[in-house]
This record gives sequence, C-alpha cells and structure tokens, in this order.
Amino acid sequence: EAAISIRGLSKIYKGGKQALHGIDLDIPRGQIFGLLGPNGAGKSTTINILAGLVNKSAGEVSIWGFDIDRDPRNAKASIGIVPQEIVFDPFFTPRETLENQAGFYGVPKAKRRTMELLGKVHLIDKADAYARSLSGGMKRRLLVAKAMVHSPPVLVLDEPTAGVDVELRQQLWDYVRELNALGVTIVLTTHYLEEAEELCDRIAIINHGRLITNEPTRDLVGRA
Ligand code: ADP
Ligand code: ADP
Repeated sequence: EAAISIRGLSKIYKGGKQALHGIDLDIPRGQIFGLLGPNGAGKSTTINILAGLVNKSAGEVSIWGFDIDRDPRNAKASIGIVPQEIVFDPFFTPRETLENQAGFYGVPKAKRRTMELLGKVHLIDKADAYARSLSGGMKRRLLVAKAMVHSPPVLVLDEPTAGVDVELRQQLWDYVRELNALGVTIVLTTHYLEEAEELCDRIAIINHGRLITNEPTRDLVGRA
C-alpha cells in the first residue's frame, strides 16, 4: 500500500482559478519522493490539501491507508508537515515549543518525547534558548522536530531549502537522509531539479496543475 494515494485530485479556488486538474499519484512507502514544478504549478496546493489546510474540489486522498474524508483523525496522525516559513513563537524555547506541540497532539510522556526529538535534531544544547536566538539551520531543524512530535510515518517538507545558503542546504539534505534511514517516508517539494536529483528516489513533475511525469530519478536523469 502507498504512503500517500491521490486519485483524480482537483482544486478550484474561490474566484475560479483551477490549481489542480485531476492529479493521480501514488507515493511509495519508505522513499524520498520529490514533487517538482515551477512556481504556480500546484505544489503548495497539493501539500495544503494533504495537511488538511485546503479543501479539495474533487478526488480522493489517503494517507497511510486512511482516507482524509472518511478517517481524518488517522489521516492527520499519519503525516507531519514542515512548512516553508518559520512558524513558531520566537519567545518560546525549543523545549517549550515541542512540549506545547506534544500537548496539542495528546502525545504521552511529552517531556521524554521532547528530549528524544531535541536529540534527533541535534538541539539538546539549545533546549532552553529562545527560538529567536537560533541560527537559520537550527530553526529549520526545530520545525522538523515539531512536525515529528506525534511520530508520523510520513514527513512532508515544503520547499525545504528555498532561500537557504549552500552550506545549510547540504546540512538539511543530510538530515532528510538521516530521517529517511530511520524509516520515515519523505515527500518534499522543490523547484530545483538538482535538489530533487540529489535527494530523491523518485520524482513527479507537475505543471499547470497536471502531472507531467512520475518515475525513478535514475530513469528521468538518464534521459535528460
Ligand atoms: P506552487 O506551490 O507550485 O508554486 P500553488 O499551489 O501555490 O503553486 O499555486 C497554484 C495556482 O493556484 C497558482 O496559479 C496560484 O496563483 C493559485 N493559487 C494558490 N493559492 C490560491 C488561493 N488561495 N486563491 C486563489 N488562487 C490560488
Ligand atoms: P522507537 O521509539 O520506536 O524506538 P524511534 O524513536 O526511532 O523508534 O522513532 C519513533 C518514531 O519517531 C517513529 O515512528 C518515527 O516516525 C519518528 N522518528 C524517527 N526518526 C525521527 C527523527 N529524527 N526525528 C523525529 N522523529 C523521528
């Protein structure tokens, strides 16, 4: 069974803009999967539908086998989303940020889970620093920890390296590989082909809300 299964997914925004035109896509479990496309292609719309932030107009979506309409609780519990923008309170510490998020999800043993996550994202030293004092890379790692607090099997990263310098990009890539090696299925959006080539086992390209291709990276790159 797929990590994420999408059938006939369409989105028409209020005002009439059609962002997705009947997308069919299966994202296999255990992979690093890249959703590639230029600005305006429909990547964020797709992710926001998976995250439950945007309502689809038509089609079916399941996450880890749970239909987002019929079983939204289990679908939501199966996915973590790392947003593009930094979105946490700069006056909270990483420890507080994660404990609050654990509380929100009703995660048991929140303090222990928080320390475990801080270790995984290499932020133990910064547990009690204000989030605003963290470097860009540390903030992004904290966002990943926040998305993983409820131990979802699927982690989605929206443009993880947009506006990020070369060194930090490399760090984030290494970290994504680490997570995947631990068994987390990774889905990332990007508009950089090199990023998708470097990281992803499989790449789907969308443009103008339509799926152009969906194949193993080596096949795609071998032809280019
Ligand atoms: P991408 O993430 O690939 O850049 P988006 O999913 O953000 O693409 O956008 C797809 C299309 O939908 C674009 O034409 C965009 O302008 C439009 N769009 C995105 N969000 C909205 C919205 N809230 N209302 C109307 N149109 C939108
Ligand atoms: P366990 O607790 O089962 O011994 P882990 O602590 O490695 O195993 O992972 C528990 C859960 O945490 C897994 O379901 C996985 O989705 C998630 N997870 C794995 N790696 C990370 C990570 N680096 N950061 C946050 N969560 C992770």
